Amino acid sequence: MSVSVTFVGSGDSFGSGGRFNTCIVVDAPDIRFCIDFGASSLIALERLAIPHNTFDTILLTHLHGDHCGGIPFLLVDAMLGAKRDRPLTIAGPRDTSERLKAVAAAMMPGMHIMVPKFPITYIDVPLLRATNIGPLSITTFPAVHTQATNPTSMRVEVAGKIIAYTGDSEWTEHMPALADGADLFIAECYFFSKPVRFHLNYPDITFHKSEIKAKRIVLTHLGREMLANLDNVPEECAHDGLVIPL
Ligand SMILES: [Zn+2]
Ligand SMILES: [Zn+2]
Repeated sequence: MSVSVTFVGSGDSFGSGGRFNTCIVVDAPDIRFCIDFGASSLIALERLAIPHNTFDTILLTHLHGDHCGGIPFLLVDAMLGAKRDRPLTIAGPRDTSERLKAVAAAMMPGMHIMVPKFPITYIDVPLLRATNIGPLSITTFPAVHTQATNPTSMRVEVAGKIIAYTGDSEWTEHMPALADGADLFIAECYFFSKPVRFHLNYPDITFHKSEIKAKRIVLTHLGREMLANLDNVPEECAHDGLVIPL
């Protein structure tokens, strides 16, 4: 079995175009994991008939709700409805464990009394050095996004393939290293023409394209203005349910 990438959610924070929040599922020979798990991700997974109990690991690029807000719902369902019995690892930027517990307490008050019957391991992934989680080698880079979210871009190596993802971020000095030799470079592309702080827009992608030495580029996190201009974008754009074999 090779590696395949499924865009479960390719939308922005606001449901633009009826798209779901960011969630990218990766299937590899010894692991199924996902990158980001936004507030709507449980619904999006149901649509695609992907059971969340099959995830070994969830990786988070940063702590905005459209990238991590689905975790409390997943944990409650894993304990009550889906009856998960296998270990789960949740890895993300600095303070992931502490911040997710606060998110859970705010969104699902009372869930702290529930004791999961499966082991949960939280890992705060350090920046700029490889961290191994099972068969994954993960390197995160500082991103330029809302600082309070501890934003990162993420490069994941699995089964000889490299998946790189900008997360939410302006273009940074680290992007060429993030993309270098990647089998798939996933770039957020929030707006088509409007300059926007803390995000990439389409002019950024075209301006920096020669610096992106990846085998394939896919744009995601598409906002309303970007979606209205897809006919003017020759680059490949994600949609919910898109599957890319690597
Ligand atoms: Zn964000
Ligand atoms: Zn976002």
